[in-house]
Amino acid sequence: MRVLIISDIHANLAALEAVLADANGQWDYVWCLGDVVGYGPDPNECVALLRTLPHLCLAGNHDWAALGRLDIRTFNADARKAVHWTQETLTQESIAYLDALPTTFVIGPYTLAHGSPREPVWEYILDPLIAALNFPHFETPYCLVGHTHTPIMFKLVSDRGDTDAVQPVYRSAQQLNGRRTIINPGSVGQPRDSNPEAAYAILEPEKMIWEHRRIAYPISVTQTKMRQIEMPERLIARLEHGW
Ligand code: ZN
Repeated sequence: MRVLIISDIHANLAALEAVLADANGQWDYVWCLGDVVGYGPDPNECVALLRTLPHLCLAGNHDWAALGRLDIRTFNADARKAVHWTQETLTQESIAYLDALPTTFVIGPYTLAHGSPREPVWEYILDPLIAALNFPHFETPYCLVGHTHTPIMFKLVSDRGDTDAVQPVYRSAQQLNGRRTIINPGSVGQPRDSNPEAAYAILEPEKMIWEHRRIAYPISVTQTKMRQIEMPERLIARLEHGW
């Protein structure tokens, strides 16, 4: 069995389609770690495409923002503008789908959350210290998260809680070695690690084999749609720079 791991699509249909084309059907199931919508121009299209796939999906902070479930005063002005546009654009069908998403999921040796096991919708696991603080908050060996839009692994390397950050090596399948690990596949639709290519991963869940991947997608297709709906220029420009 192979699982396509995706996160932070952010309503970027061109990026999601590129990931699906690159993965080429060589998977049995999709695990999506949240933020299907927000920022991008295709929220309904991304929800609809996801719904055609055998999958499970978690709720992200932007999904909740689009549902009006949280106070977006902490979002910056550009993000708020994108939230308002998304709220006006989502169909009842898309809203019903997003409304039903859970915040965490446990499957075999894997715990899934959008942000972190400690604060599933909100917390950013940006560094080994924050990762270390999260290991006591899940029981399985492995935890998969998104939210930072940066592919990385945090491995617990001692009983005292020492945690190492391991940078991704793309298209190189690696055996998870039993050490407790928090793994982020990166973002499909808005990468923030200075690499504009869509990020995803393939997991063989029983064999515990993980592979980080990147794939180029037609960024200008998404940018043109964003200009047509008058999204803030900063949100449009960031896609080609990966931040
Ligand atoms: Zn996100």
